Amino acid sequence: MTATRVLVLNSGSSSVKYQLLDMRDSSRLAVGLVERIGEEISRLKHTPLTGGGEPREREEPMADHEQALRAVADELAADGLGLDSPELAAIGHRVVHGGLKFTEPTVIDDAVMKEIERLVPVAPLHNPANITGIRTAQALRPDLPQVAVFDTAFHTTMPESAARYALDVKTADEHRVRRYGFHGTSHAYVSRKTAQLLGRAPEDVNVIVLHLGNGASASAVRGGRCVDTSMGLTPLEGLVMGTRTGDMDPAVIFHLARVGGMSIDEIDILVNKKSGLIGLCGDNDMREIRRRIDAGDEEAALAFEIYIHRLKKYIGAYYAVLGRVDAIAFTAGVGENAAPVREAAVAGLEELGLAVDGALNSVRSDEARLISPEYARVAVAVVPTDEELEIADQTYALVSDRNA
Ligand code: AMP
Repeated sequence: MTATRVLVLNSGSSSVKYQLLDMRDSSRLAVGLVERIGEEISRLKHTPLTGGGEPREREEPMADHEQALRAVADELAADGLGLDSPELAAIGHRVVHGGLKFTEPTVIDDAVMKEIERLVPVAPLHNPANITGIRTAQALRPDLPQVAVFDTAFHTTMPESAARYALDVKTADEHRVRRYGFHGTSHAYVSRKTAQLLGRAPEDVNVIVLHLGNGASASAVRGGRCVDTSMGLTPLEGLVMGTRTGDMDPAVIFHLARVGGMSIDEIDILVNKKSGLIGLCGDNDMREIRRRIDAGDEEAALAFEIYIHRLKKYIGAYYAVLGRVDAIAFTAGVGENAAPVREAAVAGLEELGLAVDGALNSVRSDEARLISPEYARVAVAVVPTDEELEIADQTYALVSDRNA
C-alpha cells in the first residue's frame, strides 16, 4: 500500500493544531485543536471530515504535549485514521524559526533538532513548543519521517541589503541579529497562487503579499523569490497588528524603561500583547472595529486609519523595492474578509496603477479572485491562504522524493 497521508502539526506553547490530509487529492480527513495544555482543564476539539462523523469535544486535564498528542491519536484512531496506519507517510511540523541554515523543508534528525534548539534564543516563545511537538510525535511513530517546515525559510532569499539592520556589524553577528521574516509558508503559497490566478509562471510575476491576520506581515516577491518582508528578528516589526505595535522608534523602549520605570519584561508584553489595534482602541477584531466605526466611534476610526496608513507605506515601499508590480494579494483573516481594509489600502494609488472594483471587492467567497477593475495596470487579488496544505505539500514532496 502506498502511504499517502500526512499529519500536519502546529505546536504552540499551550496548544496543538492538527490536520490529517490525503495527498492524492489534498483532501482533509480530520482537523482539530487542543487548547490550554498544562492548565487545569484542557480542551480537544476534533472534526472528522470523512465517513460522516460529527465534531467532538473533550475536556480533561492534559499535563503536557505528549498527553495532548496521545489524545489526538486516540480521536484519529476512533475514526479509523490511527497514527499507526501504514497509510501515514510522514508528519509535517510547522517550525517558526529556522535561522539562516534552513532554506528548505528538512527531514528531522538529531543534527536538525540540535540546530532548532540552537535557535531558541532568537525565538524563545515559539521554537521550544515546536521542539516539544516534534519529540512527542517522534515518540509516537519513531519509524516515520518527521519533516520541519520553517516559517522563515521563504525569506532566506532576501538580499543582505534588506536582511541586515544598520547595527554595528560585530554586535549583530555575535547575537545573530538580522531580519528573518515570518509567515513564510503563507507568503510562498499566496505568491504562487497569485501567479496561477494571473495565468502566468511564478518566475515571471512580481507580487506584494499582504498577510493580514491577527499577526500581519507584508512581503515583496520577485519572480517567486522573497526580496523583502516586514517582520524582522521577531514578528514584532512592520505592520500594525492585532496586539503588536509593528514599526516604532526603538528609543521608545529606552524611554519607557528610563522615564516610565517599566521593566524589559513589562515592555515586551506591552508591545507584543497590549498594543496594535487592541492598544489603540480596545479591540483587535476587525469586525468589531468596523462595527464601532459604523456606529460613529472615533477611537475605532483612528485605530483603523493608523492601521491603513502603515499598510499603505509598505505598499509604496515594496512597489519601490520591486520596481514593477504585477499584483497585490490580500490574505489571512483580515485580508480575506475585510473589504473596507482592501479598499482603503489602495485608495488614492491610481497613479501607481492600483484600483479596487467596489462590486468585486464586496463579493464574499472562499476562492482566490481578482478585485481590480479590468483597466487597472496592477492586479489586486484576494487569495485565501492555506498554510497547512502548503506544509503537507512540502512534507509529502520531500518524503516522496526520498522514496523515489
Ligand atoms: P488570522 O490570524 O488569519 O486567523 O485572522 C484573525 C483575524 O481576522 C481576526 O482577529 C479578525 O480581525 C479578522 N477577521 C476574521 N473574520 C473577519 C471578517 N469576516 N471580517 C473582518 N475581519 C475578520
